[in-house]
Amino acid sequence: MFLAHLNWQEAESVLKAKDLVVIIPLGSTEQHGPLGPLGTDFIIPQHLAEQIEAKTKALVVPTMPFGVAAHHTDFPGTIDIGLEGLTCVMRGVVENLMKHGARRFLFLNGHGGNDPALDKVGLETFRAGGLCAQINWWSLAPALNSQWITGHGDAQEVAMIRAIDNSLIRDDSLIPTTVNHLSAELRNTHLNQVRFGNAAVKVIRDVRSTVNSGGFGGLESGLGTQEWGKEMLEAVVDYCVGFVEAFRQVDIEGAHRHV
Ligand SMILES: [Zn+2]
Repeated sequence: MFLAHLNWQEAESVLKAKDLVVIIPLGSTEQHGPLGPLGTDFIIPQHLAEQIEAKTKALVVPTMPFGVAAHHTDFPGTIDIGLEGLTCVMRGVVENLMKHGARRFLFLNGHGGNDPALDKVGLETFRAGGLCAQINWWSLAPALNSQWITGHGDAQEVAMIRAIDNSLIRDDSLIPTTVNHLSAELRNTHLNQVRFGNAAVKVIRDVRSTVNSGGFGGLESGLGTQEWGKEMLEAVVDYCVGFVEAFRQVDIEGAHRHV
């Protein structure tokens, strides 16, 4: 079911169902390297939500296309609504649906910068008697298959977009990636992450100071194939369908009981 397709009377009865799971797809509108469209982070969760909807009784709300993307704003086309902005919108979505009975929410997230806002709304929702789960698809994928490495504006996201709509990938725009490593000793292994010894350390910089192309993670290797994307898409959808069924059966009162 899609909330946007129901009338209010239908929504009234759907939201009353004790075991309803509400899926909230969200992402960001931001630069995704030379190949990926600006909508990568919300196009993917929206597509996942549509696939999951077809296989479950979950209620899918309209996709949130904007998120927390301050570190990408040096690249044109990026829109950042800030931590407070996203927190406010997600809180509003959850509160208004809870008012009419919904208790279980699944944030289907496509962008890492959104995590702190979702954590905050998750705890608020818990204290109001509900529960929020959060699936970040790009982190889930490597847990399903260790070959499915992650990054930003990189092979993984390109593969996923190719599986959804190959025409959105700008194959002729590939430019060589130049990484401005923090120092000779502290080399970036990801945006905002350097390697020191056997561990990684987070160092925050604007993305455009770290990498010229905006993408990081194996684009030039040609790894981002449609075949990989299709396999990954199917595995992520299957996992989410299974999770929705398990989440539906959670005893909400039991989850709130002090132990
Ligand atoms: Zn992304």
